[in-house]
This record gives sequence, structure tokens and C-alpha cells, in this order.
Amino acid sequence: MASMPVLLAEVRARLSAAAVRSGRAPEDVTLVAVVKTLPPEVVAEAVRLGIADLGENRVQEAQVHQQLVPRDAARWHFIGHLQRNKAGKVPGLFDVVHSVDDLELATALARRAAEAGRTLPVLVEVNVSGEASKFGVSPEALPELLEGMAAISHLELRGLMTVPAVADRPEEARAGFAMLRELRDRGAARIGRALPELSMGMSGDFEVAIEEGATLVRVGSALFGARQG
Ligand SMILES: *Cc1c(COP(=O)(O)O)cnc(C)c1O
Repeated sequence: MASMPVLLAEVRARLSAAAVRSGRAPEDVTLVAVVKTLPPEVVAEAVRLGIADLGENRVQEAQVHQQLVPRDAARWHFIGHLQRNKAGKVPGLFDVVHSVDDLELATALARRAAEAGRTLPVLVEVNVSGEASKFGVSPEALPELLEGMAAISHLELRGLMTVPAVADRPEEARAGFAMLRELRDRGAARIGRALPELSMGMSGDFEVAIEEGATLVRVGSALFGARQG
């Protein structure tokens, strides 16, 4: 296993190359380092190496990580399934939530953001593969959810996120990524405002996602090695 600086340099080089070959600027793609299951010391090391965006899928684990990594040392992204009863902790711990998939959760987050005196940037998670095991709103129900969320104050609707079906080859994810981009274009037209962010692409397929327009790629194992459990 190569060291973290080597892996980080490799991932950054692949990210830049994918951006350039699709006619985009590397700065237009944000690398979100997914630090779920990592010890706080490893998260701190990643931040020392210049990682500015951290992805978490559990509220409690983020609290543990933030005991060692200051809240303002990075931008904290919530990317996992969020239970409504945890919404109260989110405005204090996170800068952006990628995984909103129903109006009740959106409303709960907005209320908590208002209590915290801030506006919370959010993305809507879409289930592009239709697999029952996946979280996310269906493509059919997306327009109505976007309209509902656009009307809520203290939420800043930034774009869409997806986790495609598990595939053997990166190319198999391309259609799902293209679909998310099209859903974003149609959704933005429908609510009459831009939805600039597309959160898509993980270790196995982030280059394909960038070619299809990703602005946020969520990369864990390519940076930190395979997770235990
Ligand atoms: C774990 C996770 C990732 C990172 O996955 P890797 O394959 O390790 O890069 C990205 N997005 C979500 C939602 C995740 O849960």
C-alpha cells in the first residue's frame, strides 16, 4: 500500500487529467475525501496534506473526528443516509449535505439551520439505478421534491447526488451519471434556478463521472486503502 501523499498525488493527477480531457478546468472539480471508518489521526494527516473537503456518512463519527480535526480546518460534507432525528446536529457539524431525499428531512434540516442562524447548502440524492437497496428519490418524484425544497427558506439547493449500481467496470456507471446530469438540467429549468453541483463518482469511477460533469467526487479507498468492515 502506497503512502497517503503518493495516493493523494495520484488521485489528484487522475482528477485533473479527466477534467482536461473533457474540456473542463481541474479547479471545477472538488475532491471530497471520504473519511468514514478512519481513525481521527488519519483524518488529521489528510488535512495536513492539504485535503480541504471531508466526506462523512455518520453524524456520530464526524463528532469523533472533530475532536481532533478542528471544525474550520476543512469543509465537512454529509454524504450518508440521514435520519430525521439526527438533523439537529447537522448545522453545527457540516457545511453541506449531499443526501436529502424527502421533504420531511429537508424541512427538519431547514428548521435546525434556522435555529442555528444559518442557511444550509444541500443536494438531493437521486436513485438513478432504481435498485430497491439504494437511498434517494426516484427520477419520477424528483421534480416535485425540487419544487417543494425550492420553497423552503434556510436551505440552499445546490444540485444533485447519486450512488450508481455497483459495477465491475467504470464505463458501466456512465449512463447513470449522464442521467443525473440530464435530471439536473431539467430540474433547474423547472424551478427556474441553477443547480450547479453534481456529486457523483467514487474510487472506482470518478474519472467517468468527471467526464459526465461531476463537480464533487467522493473518494475513499483510492486515497486511504480498503476499509475494514
Ligand atoms: C463510502 C462512500 C464513498 C467512497 O467510496 P470509495 O469507493 O471508497 O471511494 C462515496 N460516496 C458514498 C455515499 C459513500 O458512502
